[in-house]
Amino acid sequence: MSHTSRIGHGFDLHRLEPDLPLIVGGVRLEHDRGCAAHSDGDVVYHAVTDAILGALGQDDIGQLFPDHDPKWKDADSRVFVEEAVNRMRDAGYTIGNLDITVILERPKLSPHKATIKQNLADLLACDASQINIKGKTHERVDALGENRAIACHVVVLLNRD
Ligand code: MG
Repeated sequence: MSHTSRIGHGFDLHRLEPDLPLIVGGVRLEHDRGCAAHSDGDVVYHAVTDAILGALGQDDIGQLFPDHDPKWKDADSRVFVEEAVNRMRDAGYTIGNLDITVILERPKLSPHKATIKQNLADLLACDASQINIKGKTHERVDALGENRAIACHVVVLLNRD
């Protein structure tokens, strides 16, 4: 794998249910519901992990961290991103940039964007300026628009050291 750069895409979705924490990009958001998931259900960290693994052409997050493995019950999703970053380093790549789209009807993502960017910059050993985050509603349509789910798309570019 000697390419100068490689692109990857990640997608994740979780159901939202009452009385659960909503954690997005390492930030706990105030909301009337949160993610039903085996781990902490952080869609941003899961999609970032899969985007990096995808760029590397490696196994996906579900293969590396099976949701039937008690080891990952309620896991802090940082560990998934850290594993992807270790694999990226081993393969000789660093982050070029990431473009992230989070789809949720409520609450507003904009007050938390800077914190999420910094959390990711720290995890990925890059500058916050290499990370972009967009928040989108789903226009009240389907599960995402009815506050019953949250989703995230990520595109990442990796550059060879
Ligand atoms: Mg997930």
